[in-house]
Amino acid sequence: MKVFKFGGASVNTIERIQNLPTILARFSGQPLLIVVSAMGKTTNALEKVAEAFYAGHQQEALEMFRQVKRTHDDLVKYLIVHNALATERMLNDIYTEVEWLLHDKPVRDYDYYYDQIVCVGELISTTIISAFLAESGIDNSWVDVRDVFRTDDNFRDANIDLVYTATQTKEIIEPLLTDQGIVITQGFIGSTDENESTTLGREGSDYTAAVFANLLDADSLTIWKDVEGVMNADPKAFPSAEIIRELNYDEVIEMAFYGAQVIHPKTIKPLQNKSIPLLVKCFLNADLPGTIIHNSSVKGLPPIIVVKSDQVFIELHTKDFSFIGDEPMSNLYALFGQWHIKPNLIQSGAVSVQLCMDNKPEKLEKFAAAAAAAFDVDLEKGFTLLSIRHYKKELLEGMTAGKKIRLLQQTPEIVQVLLNSNN
Ligand code: ASP
Ligand code: MG
Repeated sequence: MKVFKFGGASVNTIERIQNLPTILARFSGQPLLIVVSAMGKTTNALEKVAEAFYAGHQQEALEMFRQVKRTHDDLVKYLIVHNALATERMLNDIYTEVEWLLHDKPVRDYDYYYDQIVCVGELISTTIISAFLAESGIDNSWVDVRDVFRTDDNFRDANIDLVYTATQTKEIIEPLLTDQGIVITQGFIGSTDENESTTLGREGSDYTAAVFANLLDADSLTIWKDVEGVMNADPKAFPSAEIIRELNYDEVIEMAFYGAQVIHPKTIKPLQNKSIPLLVKCFLNADLPGTIIHNSSVKGLPPIIVVKSDQVFIELHTKDFSFIGDEPMSNLYALFGQWHIKPNLIQSGAVSVQLCMDNKPEKLEKFAAAAAAAFDVDLEKGFTLLSIRHYKKELLEGMTAGKKIRLLQQTPEIVQVLLNSNN
């Protein structure tokens, strides 16, 4: 069997949704599990609803949610004829849950409400797509992934309970896949053991698809995107960016970790653990070969350039001049764990550590306050992290010429430079 993932951009217009049956026809007769994201910018729109609700702007939140409904209802009118009533009923059930919540006053953490509201983006999109495919003659089963993906209650960045999820996958998904079955389900969302909805972090649908591929021992996972395949740089910023036809897991996990918008960084591990190839293909032209990512050593790769903006530079100096060595360092890592902080670059000297991380103000403040017990903490915003794998000296020099370098780390394989964003 195969696992497919369609992201928000692949289902953001009527034409693109209508293109799905053509893609799926190429795989007819094979069991498929299809993970779909929320359509287009729905997740962003729902984030705004959650923000307004939490800020106490109830009417504004309801109006913004009405807009989300309208957009999807219009699609249903256009795409679905025979099952229109049933589809509308299912959508109304999904909408109602959010509206009930929006009529209350927030009493819990923001992240909890975020997940209860934002999760409906994928429930709505999969409901519409499942109905549309059925109408196009592609029988399929719609599954609420929250019945399968059990997570903890770390809202907005929930961790999957793999044991429970594996059992549910066996019990719920596997029987639906036998006899060439097609299953449509959501990425990015899950549920706690108390039936509260959770999300796995932005762009988490790739990760959902990879976990399913692992649990189902899939032949492959295909991520359908609006680009030809994985490129060595963002073509919007680097017009000379080129397609890479073949990569190995290590390359991709590093690229993703350093901030390339190719694939969610957590996607690779579940695939690598079972040697399942990952194909990145273009839904605009399924004939194009795309990129294959698998377990092999790939030689002669071009430089891979990743730019991560909005970085914060932090310098921590031990208060009493004790060496960074064992204890301060392990305390520091405990703080990272506690505040879910992932330094993008870290460097240590005798009595100080320098690092950079994404600018997430709430986390930063809590972390800085906690770290201040043992360190003098210096914090500067406004940096960009440039990472180049397989770099050449000239390329690095060209890209950093005339810029102020705050941190630099280099191995024979990769160079990372933290630059002032403004010059
Ligand atoms: N819809 C979610 C997001 O936009 C998850 C995903 O697309 O992977 O982040
Ligand atoms: Mg996406």
